[in-house]
Amino acid sequence: AFADPAAGAAVKADDRAHVFHSWSAQGLIDPLAVAGAEGSYFWDYDGNRYLDFSSQLVNTNIGHQHPKVVAAIQEQAGKLCTLAPGFAVDVRSEAARLIAERTPGDLDKIFFTNGGAEAVENAVRMARLHTGRSKVLSTYRSYHGATAAAINLTGDPRRWPSDTASAGVVHFWGPFLYRSPFHAENEAQECERALAHLEQTIAFEGPQSIAAIILESVPGTAGIMVPPPGYLAGVREICDRYGIVYILDEVMAGFGRTGRWFAADHFDVTPDLLTFAKGVNSGYVPLGGVAISAEIAATFDQRPFPGGLTYSGHPLACASAVATINAMAEERIVENAAEIGENVIGPALREIAERHPSVGEVRGLGVFWALDLVKNKETREPLVAYNASGAANAPMAEFAAACKRAGLWPFVNMNRTHVVPPCTVTEAEAKEGLALLDEALTAADAHTDA
Ligand code: PLP
Repeated sequence: AFADPAAGAAVKADDRAHVFHSWSAQGLIDPLAVAGAEGSYFWDYDGNRYLDFSSQLVNTNIGHQHPKVVAAIQEQAGKLCTLAPGFAVDVRSEAARLIAERTPGDLDKIFFTNGGAEAVENAVRMARLHTGRSKVLSTYRSYHGATAAAINLTGDPRRWPSDTASAGVVHFWGPFLYRSPFHAENEAQECERALAHLEQTIAFEGPQSIAAIILESVPGTAGIMVPPPGYLAGVREICDRYGIVYILDEVMAGFGRTGRWFAADHFDVTPDLLTFAKGVNSGYVPLGGVAISAEIAATFDQRPFPGGLTYSGHPLACASAVATINAMAEERIVENAAEIGENVIGPALREIAERHPSVGEVRGLGVFWALDLVKNKETREPLVAYNASGAANAPMAEFAAACKRAGLWPFVNMNRTHVVPPCTVTEAEAKEGLALLDEALTAADAHTDA
């Protein structure tokens, strides 16, 4: 195993002196210095290797250092590193076409951004200008990014400190049977009641004031709640009836994560706008965007779109997207995500749930799974309470530490751990990680009533 503790210490010292980290109390963090990564693994400077069951921030769908993507970035860097958004450039044109060929329905025009939050900002801007209305509806259990509009649309507590600019945002409850806000007893009831609740929210807010409804097709960070059959189609019907723009946020769920190119494909639903980032190029170079319907694109045929970014459609980012999408198609990476989810991860997690008193529910699809950890399977009381600090609670921190000691890098948010390895994960790697997870859950079991 690679080891160079002195180099690691130097990296760490500069980090602690000068890097200001996201979402953190700067004096309370201890970031791991990482020396390298390949495929489903990364390693530190002290001889430790980690199986990445988080895909970083659920973005390395193609794994680390995919040779075809690395080569494409190197080749593009040798040719043309950057060009302003106003020009037509080969890799930008090709990336837009490859994305448009895969997005549902008539979402055939692509506005490129540097990431997910900017995609959400611009989708909302398009919806407001297209409708001439201002309000946007989003769910409480959601994450849409950390810029001004995106953080207000976000339902989770990361919104609270930034709520000052929340004008025009209204939150409602999406469907989530295990913790049903509607006291529903089955998926059909949950779907019907969630749609009725949305319809009532619209009636009381005033349909003529609502520009858009934004939903994650499968909510990610908030808990991987696969919507019940009929829900996303029901929202489509409501949007059509009231002239509301339907935005599906596929920043996390898109590009293979659910075992299809887009999560919306599971439900045969076409939104008016679809936001993407992360998996589009696995984050090798920052990239996101909005896929736009013909009707909304036409709004800006004769009238300028009042939005833009210096790096919109950056050539290095677009070259990496072209290589990523082509590699995913050639190597059946989306199919791999579906097969591993159905044949390996899903069955193993259900077995794990039977063995562990802390596992209240298993849910997901593809390489997109959540374990809802509880104090008590009967009452479903969460292992840690809904809270403003996300992952920082002691029982979950102990569980995460147990995973890391065993060589597994987990994704942890509040009372959940998500099993979100790369879409390229092999059966052997998945089984290795699931065995380590199984063991580490003993640390969570210790905090249950059992
Ligand atoms: N939307 C969803 C569904 C996300 O999961 C995220 C990030 O996790 C974002 C938007 C924000 O993306 P970014 O962090 O690239 O701005």
